[in-house]
Amino acid sequence: MEDCIFCKIITGEIPADIVYRDNDIIAFRDINPVAPTHLLIIPCKHIISLTEMPEADFSIVDKMLRIANRLAEEEQIAESGYRLAINCGKHGGQEVLHLHLHLIGGRQLSGRLG
Ligand code: AMP
Repeated sequence: MEDCIFCKIITGEIPADIVYRDNDIIAFRDINPVAPTHLLIIPCKHIISLTEMPEADFSIVDKMLRIANRLAEEEQIAESGYRLAINCGKHGGQEVLHLHLHLIGGRQLSGRLG
């Protein structure tokens, strides 16, 4: 997608601190982290959001979760705990219209989600 900032990170047009990459998924550090660890795990395929997800592509979410699990270990936050979040649409607070999973940890997070 031409105007998608995350697609540009995938192609290398926009630099990012990439911590994981394979043919389907990349993960990189959020530019505006809300905690010591704040990674974004995204599919290389341009999928706008979970609500726009074609049925056939749901296996990518499974893979994103598995990679989150692995990255949490690598970031040494698996034991202390962390939060995974996917914001969907306007009320969900989604700003970038390319599906992404936030992996946030490294400090005590608020119990409030909203
Ligand atoms: P969301 O509000 O769920 O759409 O989250 C989008 C996230 O993308 C925010 O946490 C932003 O800080 C992050 N973000 C936006 N642009 C970049 C970028 N160029 N590199 C890394 N993270 C970014």
